[in-house]
Amino acid sequence: MSVKNTYPIQCPKCQAEMEVELYDSINVTEAPALRDELMANQLNAVQCPHCDFAFRVDKRLLYNDPENRVMVFWFPGNEADYRSNKEEFIASMEALNTSLPDEFDPPSVHLVFTRSELVERIFLLEADLNERIIEYIKYMMYSRNSEKLDPKTKAILFNTEDSTDESLCFVVQDLQSMKLEGMLEFDRSAYDDLVEMFDSDAKTAHLMELFPGPYISARELFMQEA
Ligand SMILES: [Zn+2]
Repeated sequence: MSVKNTYPIQCPKCQAEMEVELYDSINVTEAPALRDELMANQLNAVQCPHCDFAFRVDKRLLYNDPENRVMVFWFPGNEADYRSNKEEFIASMEALNTSLPDEFDPPSVHLVFTRSELVERIFLLEADLNERIIEYIKYMMYSRNSEKLDPKTKAILFNTEDSTDESLCFVVQDLQSMKLEGMLEFDRSAYDDLVEMFDSDAKTAHLMELFPGPYISARELFMQEA
């Protein structure tokens, strides 16, 4: 089930106050049109009745696709909070899991902080790729290009659209301007090798230790090390 609630908001252009209905959670197995809205940047979009200004409200959102076992929780702009209140985040994610009915075997909930990360994670899970291995690849990319790719200012995002059977495609995003700046490729056969390499108890444990979750991110790993 998708859940909508009424929120008081202010138009960023004319400052008019208004009450609007916004989604708290969407179930895209039941309502695939909501996935399309999200991808088209139209989910929780508002048009001001006073000045006609169109804008998008970025708020907490649970993206749920039970058919594909994809669950992603988007906490816009809370990355710094996460670093200082990690336990609180973990507790609220656990509360979310336990509030689900007993007979429901929930997939693990993914945590993201930007809309780009949300879209990236949805595509990645739909493509049956392992999010920890993808972040491990990004970790290697940061390490090998430390002069050009500073994890503080550059995000690396997996790009499904330009990925092929031969190579996985990644784009570099500048976190200040949010502009996409460059493209990086990674052989799919090397990804398959990593999947195989990490498929042992000891190696899996190492990967889990690097990316324990709920926020699985190579950038985060560098930020914590810094
Ligand atoms: Zn307005």
